[in-house]
Amino acid sequence: MRLTELARAGRRLAGAAGQAGRVALDVLLPPTCLTCDVPVEAPGQLCAECFRATAFITEPFCRRCGVPFVHAGQAGPARLCPTCLTHPPAFAAARAALRYDAQAKHMLLPFKHADRTETARTLARIMAGVGADLLRSADVLVPVPLHRQRLTARRYNQAALLALALARLAARPVLPDALRRVRPTAALGERGAAERIALMEGAIAVRPARAARVAGRTVLLIDDVMTSGATANACARALAEAGARRVDVLVAARVPDPRLD
Ligand SMILES: [Zn+2]
Ligand SMILES: [Zn+2]
Repeated sequence: MRLTELARAGRRLAGAAGQAGRVALDVLLPPTCLTCDVPVEAPGQLCAECFRATAFITEPFCRRCGVPFVHAGQAGPARLCPTCLTHPPAFAAARAALRYDAQAKHMLLPFKHADRTETARTLARIMAGVGADLLRSADVLVPVPLHRQRLTARRYNQAALLALALARLAARPVLPDALRRVRPTAALGERGAAERIALMEGAIAVRPARAARVAGRTVLLIDDVMTSGATANACARALAEAGARRVDVLVAARVPDPRLD
């Protein structure tokens, strides 16, 4: 068994055995870097090499949707990207912590599919930095929902884990179940922007029992990865229909616009 598999099995056991079990297993299995096998001092850390390889999004980026520019000359009027100029999103502003490249995938895919839930705290710390302004003005944090079927298969919603970690860090209220998927949507993976928008049309709604908690509020939508923004747009539209005053978006990673690469 490779060290990561052993550690993963150990973490699952530790989760089952509770905190006492986790402490005992941590002694047996040193924590490893979030994206490789190198031992680190504490769970949820990146080793020095992986930290260096991580592409944090810094200026220049689109003022509206946060998509990174390779150089400032790519910004259009009002420092917007081509998409925001022609098809303004339903949200007011979005920020992303990392460029979604191969290195970010090493961190985000195990977080999504392989029980590496300790990644949430690390990502939340990075997101809290880039999203400090959005967090300050947010009345409530709301994660992008998973459909019930997918939630059962994965056992947790990675966006909700991020929202909970961010809420703790920024001392903001969080509504983990404000949004729901009305119907399952196929993976948006390889689809084009127009197809993504069509697929997400009416796929997300505010839970009636939560509508009063978003009406008149500034909502900060939280997700792990933003690609075209179709999902964030569908969520923002549902929240606006429920009366949200403003919807912003904070994500761990952003897929760069291929036209800007
Ligand atoms: Zn590493
Ligand atoms: Zn943009």
